[in-house]
Order: sequence, then structure tokens, then C-alpha cells
Amino acid sequence: MAPGVPSQAVYAERIKRAQAEMKQQGIDILLVGPSPDLVYLIGYDAHLSERLNLLIVRQEGTPDLVTPVLESFLAESCEPNVTLRRWKETESPSDLVASLIGETKDVTLGVSDQLWSTFLLKLQKAMPDGSWTSGQPVLAHLRVTKDQAELDNLFEVARLTDEAWHEFVESGQISGLTETQAMERLAGMMDKRGLGRSFGICASGPNSASPHHHTGDRVIQPGDAVIFDWGGLLNGYHSDVTRTVFIGNPTDEFRKVYDIVRRANQTALDAVRPGVAAESIDKAARDLITEAGYGEAFLHRVGHGLGMDVHEEPYLVGGNTTPLEVGMVFSDEPGIYLAGKFGVRIEDSVVVTETGGKRLNEASRELTVMD
Ligand code: ZN
Ligand code: ZN
Ligand code: ZN
Repeated sequence: MAPGVPSQAVYAERIKRAQAEMKQQGIDILLVGPSPDLVYLIGYDAHLSERLNLLIVRQEGTPDLVTPVLESFLAESCEPNVTLRRWKETESPSDLVASLIGETKDVTLGVSDQLWSTFLLKLQKAMPDGSWTSGQPVLAHLRVTKDQAELDNLFEVARLTDEAWHEFVESGQISGLTETQAMERLAGMMDKRGLGRSFGICASGPNSASPHHHTGDRVIQPGDAVIFDWGGLLNGYHSDVTRTVFIGNPTDEFRKVYDIVRRANQTALDAVRPGVAAESIDKAARDLITEAGYGEAFLHRVGHGLGMDVHEEPYLVGGNTTPLEVGMVFSDEPGIYLAGKFGVRIEDSVVVTETGGKRLNEASRELTVMD
């Protein structure tokens, strides 16, 4: 069966898990603005605008969704998991929130990361007695391990991304195209498979030495290393893959660096097990690259969580001792960047299983030459 959007029963269960976690963490009220957090909890992709949409979750009972009356028709599909609280254009939504919450003395209010300061400042002014804190530990804890419905979507979006890449590699010459044109060709192959657009980076020649290069008008030419780092969206879930190709005959230095990065990618995967610290995956890849003499050229952490956000917890970075758990999904993306010359990055996404890491995408990691 093709993966789809969760049923209302799944959202009801997620709200219960959020409430249990709030009790655990001592958060009395959780306030969630339009964001993947909101979509995760109630399946509502609310407008992000100057008009307040806000989910109020208490430790018990049905949450309130405060929403502008003109958008409330869209939110009706979330009932009865939420009670809709509509506000009219002439009303103050923060006063409405304050009246729904009531007394806030000795009440801890946890706020989602993605709630604009314009809203938070007004809410704090309307409830000055409340004790305000980040609600992110609750939300991140829920979202960091994926349930089966989420994994089905993540595997499927990764599989379709692999297919698009395979077609792209066979699609003929890319030298002579600008980075933008090459990325557009690949994006078209994602579109064709029904994937939504998430992001895309094409970095050619010396630009490939800049990990978050802004795709531009440079013309791809023979002798270039070219990094493609892109993803698509399926039912709200992202893929995130990087492949590095060479145009024409690869130089010895490129072959050497490519081989090191490929081994680092594999070594990081092999280090994945439930219970090991997130930072140990970074260390596995970093030690290998450092021993090969390129430690200074590995400019970023080895990976980040992936799901409804392209970057989310857990972050695989030195200092993060969070133990890996079954169902966590993250990227494995070591890279070596030689300023003025070229860069190589190979990125897969990986799920933690009882027996170790399993890749979601399997597009070839062999050194790939294009014209
Ligand atoms: Zn990145
Ligand atoms: Zn990426
Ligand atoms: Zn990534």
C-alpha cells in the first residue's frame, strides 16, 4: 500500500504522547505555532502570516486551536481532536489565548521553536505571570523517533529520489549547462515522480568546496567536480541526498578524496547502533578523514535528523551525547572541501534499527563520471 497522510486516530495518539511528555517535563501548557510541529500533532498546515494560529495543549483534555475566522474552514478537518476557537478581525487573539488559559501564576508555558516573536511578545504581555520556557524538548522528543507511517513515507520519498538520480545520470551531457539549469533538469525528474520541491544545491568546480553554495550561473565544464545536494517532499516528509560526480576524466587527487569520503560514509553507517552517543557517529567519520590527512577540510557535522524538517534532531555533532534510539532517522554526510579546487560530499539518510543503521536511499555511491 502506498504511504499516505495519517488518520485522525494517529493524531489523537500523538496528542496523548505530547501530554504524557509534558507531565514528564513539567510543562503545563504547550503553545504551538504554524510549523511542522503543528502538522505533526494535528495534521494542520496552518498559514504562516501576521494573523495568529496557535494550538494550546494542556496536560489533559482536548487542545484548543485558536484560528482567524476566515481560515477556520480549513481547520475544521482537525475536529474533534481540537476545539476550534475562532477570532474575528476586530478581536485580539492574544487576549483570547489568555482567557482560554486562565490563571497563569505558577504555570509553565512551553513555546514551540517556530512561533514568531511578534506573537510571543504579545502573548507574554497578555500573560505576564506565566513562567515561559521552550517547548522544544517536548516536541523534539516526540518527533525524533519515527513511527511506521512516517518511516513508510521516508523510505518512499528516498526511493523515488534514487530513481530520479538514476535517470539524471543517464540523461546525457551536463557540461555546458549552468548549475541552475542542471539542478532544474534533476528537479524536473523529481516533479515527474509526484514529489514536492524541497531544496536543491548544485555546486560545480571550485564552488563545490563551499558546502552550502548558492546554485548560480557558473557553467559546468570538463574537469569539474559537481555536487548535487537535493531533496523532495512526500506527504510532508523530506528526502536529502548528496552525490558528487566528475565531468570527464577524474584527477588522481579527486579519486583519492572521493574514496576517503566514501569510506567515511560507510564507517559512519557501520557505527550506528541503538544506545551509542550521537557524537560517536560523527567521530567515526571524522577519525577516518583525519587519519587520511583531511581533518581540517571536513567543515561540518556528519549529520542531522530528517523528517518533516530537513534539519531536525538528532544532530550528529561533537558534544551531543544523546543515545541513538530505534526509529531515529538522520543523514550520514561526510565531506572534504579543498578551497579553490573542489569538494566531495556523499550523503544518505539512515534509520536506526535494532541491529544497526539501515540506509533509506541506495543511489550508487561508486565514482560517477558524466560528460
Ligand atoms: Zn546542509
Ligand atoms: Zn543534503
Ligand atoms: Zn543533509
